[in-house]
Amino acid sequence: MNIAFIGLGNMGAPMASNLVKAGHSVTVFDLMESAMQALESEGASRADSAEEAAHGAEVIISMLPAGVHVKGLYLGRNGEPGLLDAVEGKPLVIDASTISPDDARAVAAAAAERGITWLDAPVSGGVGGAKAGTLTFIVGGPQAGFDKARPVLEAMGKNIFHAGDHGAGQVAKICNNMLLGILMSGTAEALALGVKNGMDPSVLSEIMKQSSGGNWALNVYNPWPGVMEGSAASRDYQGGFLTDLMAKDLGLAWELALGSKSSVPMGSQARNLFALHSAQGSGALDFSSIQNLYRAGE
Ligand code: NAD
Repeated sequence: MNIAFIGLGNMGAPMASNLVKAGHSVTVFDLMESAMQALESEGASRADSAEEAAHGAEVIISMLPAGVHVKGLYLGRNGEPGLLDAVEGKPLVIDASTISPDDARAVAAAAAERGITWLDAPVSGGVGGAKAGTLTFIVGGPQAGFDKARPVLEAMGKNIFHAGDHGAGQVAKICNNMLLGILMSGTAEALALGVKNGMDPSVLSEIMKQSSGGNWALNVYNPWPGVMEGSAASRDYQGGFLTDLMAKDLGLAWELALGSKSSVPMGSQARNLFALHSAQGSGALDFSSIQNLYRAGE
């Protein structure tokens, strides 16, 4: 298929790369020149704008940081028309960014007015999952759109869920990431407690993995440097899933809670911890660097 891919960051670049490997004809666009060069060397074509990338595309995929970028891309910004007004034909549009359900519904509705199906399809699985092509996609939108998207998503992911109508993918993703934020900060707290009481972090990790404290953060994303080969913690927390993006997702959870009068005490605590960690200068580090909050003064 002819696919336009917009947003080649930590997640988008390996996802686009897997589409190329699966034999799709992929045209990429990112604001960062270097990101496009890397994809070009893997067999993608590069464009000078999102509009150019989308020219003739049957499927458009975006992987951008936040709702402001997604709305800007599709609906336009500063009075400029957005991509929905620039595309010819009726491409299927799949946005894999994590944004608010309201933003997803607003863009989907604007697309529907133009006869275009726009799906929210946020992902879980991290950069490791993006590279391995084992991401979980959590899709919101009509069944027909989901059925059309599935074969494309299968080139990048292993578990493809239809969560419900527009916005439902984001609701499920936000619930998941609120739990992840809680688990990562809790894991960091437990590890620091053990180490301050004489435990080796690797020994403690192995014990908790095989015990009732085992969880995704501990099992596959250990936040203590040196415990897990290849983890963000073992490369000075470079790359991965940025603290600022986790803080954004916990903010989205907070907005959902306000709107639905839900009580999220643990999620609120996690949001405050990641906001504090970001304010202390760690916004551009992987979110597992929350470990450092508990190591101050060592
Ligand atoms: P990132 O910051 O690494 O990459 C975002 C990319 O988008 C950058 O390369 C940036 O230049 C580009 N960009 C921004 N605005 C653009 C525009 N208007 N046109 C073209 N390119 C533009 O972010 P990421 O880690 O790849 O995350 C992307 C999304 O996926 C976020 O919503 C994040 O919450 C979500 N997510 C990330 C992870 C992870 O582990 N990193 C996991 C699951 C979900």
